[in-house]
Amino acid sequence: MHEAVRQHLEMESFFTGFSRKSPTPPALTPPVSSTQHHGSTQNLASLATQITQCQKCTLCSTRQQAVPGEGNPHARLMFVGEAPGANEDREGRPFVGNAGQLLDKIIQACGLRREDVYIANILKCRPPGNRDPLPEEVAHCMPYLKNQITLIAPEVIVALGAHAARTLLDKAEGIGALRGRFWSFTAAPEAAPIKVMPTYHPAYLLHNYSTENRKRVWEDMKKVMNELGIPLPAR
Ligand code: URA
Repeated sequence: MHEAVRQHLEMESFFTGFSRKSPTPPALTPPVSSTQHHGSTQNLASLATQITQCQKCTLCSTRQQAVPGEGNPHARLMFVGEAPGANEDREGRPFVGNAGQLLDKIIQACGLRREDVYIANILKCRPPGNRDPLPEEVAHCMPYLKNQITLIAPEVIVALGAHAARTLLDKAEGIGALRGRFWSFTAAPEAAPIKVMPTYHPAYLLHNYSTENRKRVWEDMKKVMNELGIPLPAR
């Protein structure tokens, strides 16, 4: 197929309905014994309880609910966003608003289901009015994310947007400069480095819904799926 036509078809399905032709999504969970599975799930659950009770910063007084994160405790692929918004604060779940719906479409376009991956944020509580996270809030919250990453041990993290990317990578550049290539994140001194692909935040993409930007996100996700060795669905 002509390259331009192939790209167009890929973009169309990324953009619209994601009619996945492959009948079963590829397994994104490595086989685990029931004890392994139980152990990690348990730890993530107790971490989530800790997060919902956290009072380390003032966001605990303005939140409706903390949003620990959700997904496959053994996900090979993890998405990290910035902070809960109003919908997430109300539901206690990450990425459930408009940006979340677009993230779901991106995940589906890769042939995966939301429950195959793990979705979390840098901040676990909503900053009032969706203002940018403050450095001290990030400092208090990062140990939770680092613990989650250590327990889940994903092979790839997709950092959604400038804030997540800068925080994970300890960089000051904008997302345009960081996206499109793999960086590395180490959650604990003895832990193995994990590949990080920064890409545009779905909320940014919604507000800047150009073909070019969609194409950039799709190119980033293709690199991620290639790194995981999981073929994209046939279109
Ligand atoms: N934006 C984020 O960064 N995280 C969410 O959970 C929702 C919107």
